[in-house]
Amino acid sequence: MRGYVLLAPAKINLYLEILGDRPDGYHEMAMVLQSVALADRVEVRANGAERFQVSCDHPQVPSDSSNLAYRAAMLLAQTFPEPFYQFGGANITIDKRIPVGAGLAGGSTNAAAVLVGLDLMWNLGLTQSELQDLGAQLGSDIPFCVSGGTAIATGRGEQLAPLPDLDHLHVLLAKYRSLSVSTSWAYNAYRQQFGGSYLREGDRLQQRRRAIHAGPMMGAIATRNGRAIGSLLHNDLEKVVLPAPDYAKVAALKQALLEHDSLGVMMSGSGPTVFALLDSADQAMHLKQAIQQQMADPDLDLWVTRFCASGIQLSESL
Ligand code: ATP
Repeated sequence: MRGYVLLAPAKINLYLEILGDRPDGYHEMAMVLQSVALADRVEVRANGAERFQVSCDHPQVPSDSSNLAYRAAMLLAQTFPEPFYQFGGANITIDKRIPVGAGLAGGSTNAAAVLVGLDLMWNLGLTQSELQDLGAQLGSDIPFCVSGGTAIATGRGEQLAPLPDLDHLHVLLAKYRSLSVSTSWAYNAYRQQFGGSYLREGDRLQQRRRAIHAGPMMGAIATRNGRAIGSLLHNDLEKVVLPAPDYAKVAALKQALLEHDSLGVMMSGSGPTVFALLDSADQAMHLKQAIQQQMADPDLDLWVTRFCASGIQLSESL
């Protein structure tokens, strides 16, 4: 095989709670993650050389060794040097459809796609959980991006348990093109403001995790009840992003969305993307038109998409 084309879906957070600090410097999290059909197209094509070359059509995405897709390729080459030397490296071409710095795990899903593509190209035969363990070395969202669908994530976000599919739900994503949020800024700001109330003891952390697992959001997902899910959306990072003067437009956008009929409205991840949940594509399309007219801002991008039940998908063999 000369290579593969993979579809790499974006993710949104239906639930994001920061529980405390971890000894490794990361936060202890409890999240519900959901793949959506808005996806990048990632081509991994054998180049017959002992190197990787990344290119992307988006000006904010680096083509050098800082690209998460490149780092995923290097990690796999270092872990499996023999297949790397036998089959060689790859040219990785990213057709970017997921907005960048948006809280939609764009870089993480590209890295997940490269792990899946190279596993196929080098005949490694890795299991999904082996691919996820490798991904976790590079970023906490990568394991989820490999398997996708709907899942509850704890630890740094890399400990996953699958949840029932919610692929009957639709979503409107809204993002100001000129705005992006640095994920590390958002988490550091949260620690500064709310670090005093972090759970510190193992027992209390464990209790809180159990309460979330047995809580109302899990019940709403188990019964695939869109209205209940919409009313239980939660994101702790809204508390630092929405009041920040730089993101006043994001707070106003969320308010504008809330004034229309939907199942619920929330910021995704560290933002600044805001999403509204809807029962049908028609309703999502109507909301898109209403917001377009109301906000009348050429900087505001809107996407109608739907929940999807899978992570990285093979689209084409080259
Ligand atoms: P997350 O939700 O995981 O926090 P995000 O969606 O907020 O991520 P990304 O779109 O992944 O953010 O981009 C964050 C930064 O990462 C960008 O500003 C970009 O410079 C860098 N980056 C590195 N590799 C990639 C990639 N393959 N795609 C997008 N951004 C990348």
